[in-house]
Amino acid sequence: MAKKANPSFMLDLDGIRILVTRKRVKNVNFRIGSNGEALMSVPWNTSRQRAEQYALGHLDWFKRTLARKEATKPAMPSQWESGEKVRVWGEEVELCVRETKDHSYCSLEGSLLVLSVPAGSSSEYREALVESWKRDELRLRLEDLLPECEERVGAHATSVTLRRMKTRWGSCTTSTGRIRLNTALVEAPPQCLEMVLVHELCHLHVPNHGPKFHALMDLHYPSWRVCRRYLNKSGIL
Ligand SMILES: [Zn+2]
Repeated sequence: MAKKANPSFMLDLDGIRILVTRKRVKNVNFRIGSNGEALMSVPWNTSRQRAEQYALGHLDWFKRTLARKEATKPAMPSQWESGEKVRVWGEEVELCVRETKDHSYCSLEGSLLVLSVPAGSSSEYREALVESWKRDELRLRLEDLLPECEERVGAHATSVTLRRMKTRWGSCTTSTGRIRLNTALVEAPPQCLEMVLVHELCHLHVPNHGPKFHALMDLHYPSWRVCRRYLNKSGIL
């Protein structure tokens, strides 16, 4: 009696591991699973050799899609433990958690984001500490950047508030001249902070996003589209 074929098997093609599952389907299907795994389903009677041919034909698609997923994976860690990756000014740095009996602090030391916290501190506590560090980091950058951008745009913000926002990088109340910036901008390259700041300052001249507004952005921050594309694709928000 013929041995029953194993319904699932792994293919390793050019560094890409693809989990192939035989199913009672008519067509070959390719997809990326929720944990970023390469998946493929094939009709029940497909031989391993035939499955490999299908996969080779789709290898470029797998590579492209996996690379895109990698670029948009969450920027900030969830557990706030040593070794987790954190994005600071567009660069990946490693989180280093140290225990202290003294004051808690967060500081960027070379390629490490050091968190000095009491033993047994919760992940919420650590996250709040990093959030407060992000505000300090932004404030520091804005000391020079804000007056410089105000002069360039020819508009003055009555206040700049920093806070974590879920859906917007910045906002501006044109009637009062108040600007809010998202603390998550610390995760993006510095040019993105500058672009968002110039954007909000331009709103003090033109409140909407019409052609006049775009003309102002082209004038005061010509590469704004590059930054916008980065922010939209970053997966930070
Ligand atoms: Zn706007």
